[in-house]
Amino acid sequence: MQVFKFGGASVKDAAAFRNVSFIVQKHSVSGQLLIVVSAIGKTTNALESIFSKAQEKLNYSSEFSALKTYHFSVVQELFPEVKSPVFEALEQLFAKLEENLQALVPGKTDQQYDQIISFGELLASTLLAHYLKAENLPAIWLDCRKYIRTDENWREGKVDWSITEDLIQRDLPAILQNNIVVTQGFIGGTSGGKTTTLGREGSDYSAAIFAYCLRADKMIIWKDVAGLLNADPKIFPNTVRYPEISYQETIEMAYYGASVIHPKTIKPLADRQIPLLVKSFVDPESEGTKIGNFEHGKLAPAFILKQNQCLISFGVKDFSFISEQNLSTIFQVLSELRIKINLMQNSAISFSICTDYNGARLKKLIETLRDQFNIQYNISLQLYTIKNYDSESIKNLTASKEILLEQRTRNTFQFVCRG
Ligand code: ASP
Ligand code: MG
Repeated sequence: MQVFKFGGASVKDAAAFRNVSFIVQKHSVSGQLLIVVSAIGKTTNALESIFSKAQEKLNYSSEFSALKTYHFSVVQELFPEVKSPVFEALEQLFAKLEENLQALVPGKTDQQYDQIISFGELLASTLLAHYLKAENLPAIWLDCRKYIRTDENWREGKVDWSITEDLIQRDLPAILQNNIVVTQGFIGGTSGGKTTTLGREGSDYSAAIFAYCLRADKMIIWKDVAGLLNADPKIFPNTVRYPEISYQETIEMAYYGASVIHPKTIKPLADRQIPLLVKSFVDPESEGTKIGNFEHGKLAPAFILKQNQCLISFGVKDFSFISEQNLSTIFQVLSELRIKINLMQNSAISFSICTDYNGARLKKLIETLRDQFNIQYNISLQLYTIKNYDSESIKNLTASKEILLEQRTRNTFQFVCRG
């Protein structure tokens, strides 16, 4: 039994859909297959923009039509002659999306976000299931919201593993016997039947949830790169591919912000010792990267860049030192505001953190703590991490950068600098 995950880039246009069908035909000849698909191309970004306009009662109609035209242009190319039911299915989804947009009310932003943004995956999975069927594959569309059960932590739903596993085990093994299941990445459902999302780029995680619950033999993430590389080739020159890498190394790289795999993906797979392959959808026959229980010596240094960072310093006001008491106050507020620390450092009289920039949360943080601390911050910064560094890699990367903070452990070198 295998789980395949196809991301937005792998279904960005009609040619990409044809390629997915080709991969599925070639790689699913033996055994059962479940496919998790993300929204096509940059649909999720487009939906976020439409959502925020709709919330502010601004006109979103041109962006909405553009998104609709984009989807229908793919459909028209894939289904040139036959009047496939896919047209009607997509019309209905767009009608429902529009209805939901018009019904938005002030407040409950995160909850409403999930109800709207999830349409990207509903559209993509509907399209893919119809297309694979038209290609004579036994594809069946599955609503993953009925299987991946989460709490109501909107925008980052927390999975209830025991219910999810029961639901999946109840139905899926029988369905998979005769069908290729096509389902959505990124989304889940609450016990009350509301849609949740699992965090941006969460489709890898969805695939891992299915793989775990189905005790899959293997999971494959199909990407536009040759495998797991030591850096993002769009940002860094001369990348190298890791042919094999351990779960542990991969988890750490994802944690530091390597965008190739969603950070939550590895744990469920490691728990059940399910091998993960990262393969190129452009060159499906090439080897890719195998992630599993490998033991290896020192790997080539990995370079990771996080953009749009904010460095915040909390200074004590009364000439006392930064104490555990102060830190506990700060951590409490960070946790309440769901501000995640990417890097932290303290000195005698101040404590600094580097986080992803979020204007609204930063404002709340300052309001809450400004009576107790002198708070200063810088935005538009970059956080670089070199995992498994050597002196050469540090020298090359730090050259001519204005560094505001740096930190080094035995394996990892990190620094915050101006963008
Ligand atoms: N479509 C979602 C996003 O862009 C989920 C994913 O791509 O994994 O964040
Ligand atoms: Mg995506």
